[in-house]
Amino acid sequence: MTAITPEPPKHLKARALKPGSRRPAKELCSECGLCDTYYIHYVKAACAFLNQQFPDLETQTHGRSRDLDNADDCYFGVYQRMMAARKREPIPGAQWTGIVSSTAIAMLEKGLVEGVVCVQSSEHDRFQPKPIIARTREEILAARVNKPTLSPNLSVLEQVQQSRMKRLLVIGVGCQIQALRTVEQQLGLEKLYVLGTPCVDNVTRAGLQKFLETTSRSPETVVYYEFMQDFRVHFKHEDGSTETVPFFGLNTRELKDVFAPSCMSCFDYVNGLADLVVGYMGAPFGWQWIVVRNERGQEMLDLVQDQLEVQPVFSQGDRRQAVQQSIPAYDKGVTLPMWAAKLMGVVIDKIGPRGLEYARFSIDSHFTRNYLYVKRNYPEKLMAHVPEFAKRIVSQYKLPKS
Ligand code: FAD
Ligand code: SF4
Repeated sequence: MTAITPEPPKHLKARALKPGSRRPAKELCSECGLCDTYYIHYVKAACAFLNQQFPDLETQTHGRSRDLDNADDCYFGVYQRMMAARKREPIPGAQWTGIVSSTAIAMLEKGLVEGVVCVQSSEHDRFQPKPIIARTREEILAARVNKPTLSPNLSVLEQVQQSRMKRLLVIGVGCQIQALRTVEQQLGLEKLYVLGTPCVDNVTRAGLQKFLETTSRSPETVVYYEFMQDFRVHFKHEDGSTETVPFFGLNTRELKDVFAPSCMSCFDYVNGLADLVVGYMGAPFGWQWIVVRNERGQEMLDLVQDQLEVQPVFSQGDRRQAVQQSIPAYDKGVTLPMWAAKLMGVVIDKIGPRGLEYARFSIDSHFTRNYLYVKRNYPEKLMAHVPEFAKRIVSQYKLPKS
């Protein structure tokens, strides 16, 4: 194994700080981890909450920025192909069927990369993230399933240079990847691959506790949850049982302050700067949604293609009325009685948006909510922070004046 030389590049040396000691984005910080490393030197340019630079980073990464006159580009970012897929043999305990973990394992074992940045759980708390650079199949598998809390994935970046690694895969969510793309050239790598997931409504560890206590019948036994395409939150418990709660029955007044300010100000739901994105929201229930953004993304997907069942994406229904109605309901913190919420969930599930139209529903609902949040709380940031594609999406709706 290569000897480890714990020496940062000379011009960055003085900047290494104690973890958590500096956060230039202040309360908007998403704890992406960059500021726990000597790459804090680049924070003003790199931080997703201090410098919105989608067009430049998209051009650097994919060779072009989004075509704003193309509705699919506006919603889903630069891409070459989209599909729905699931593993023929799902990985037990993965968030969905484990396409992310399987791709990472294939890349490592076929020698495309020497390490994988991913996030395991701390020994004491399954929801407390512990970022690592995995070098074995077992370490990647131990990182499977979402840690539904802000995770400092980039805090391990110093170790990349120290280990003299030249080929790396990073798994991460949008804010982490925006910062990563800005410092990419400084990492001393020959090749970087990025496998992203969509991300929305993340929380601090304390916020997660409040969410679980407000929403689940048994917060202490939850091992996994997901906001699913059937308009319900699905909780899986330690004993293997599943609990579902309709979106429309969530206690929005209580939950309004639960989501991190970074996530209330984020417009990168679809992880526009990853090479390959694996989520679920544009796919039928039980399937995963794959977005190949560039050649590197295709190279990654090719490695696991024979493990997958695949079908084309589709789009059904019209989201717009449901989104428009949800704007004042969320704004005023309206909570429906559970019987009405269940009924509404059933009706919307039968006649509501599906496939890519469900993804658009979710993007529209979050972008309108987040636009209002930034406008009210950070009016001086609004114009520069909200990217053009998000302004176009939000402009389809009537928002409250103040
Ligand atoms: P697995 O094989 O189980 O692997 C999961 C991977 O995620 C692991 O490699 C791990 O390193 C990484 N990871 C876990 N937690 C974090 C974290 N906090 N930050 C960064 N990386 C992490 N998809 C949608 O379509 N819509 C959504 O609204 C949506 N919200 C999400 C919110 C969060 C916080 C996260 C982490 C993911 C979200 N996703 C969303 C993606 C989706 O839930 C699945 O993660 C994705 O489909 C991959 O499933 P899998 O079974 O292939 O993953
Ligand atoms: Fe630093 Fe990341 Fe927080 Fe921005 S989001 S202040 S780059 S740790």
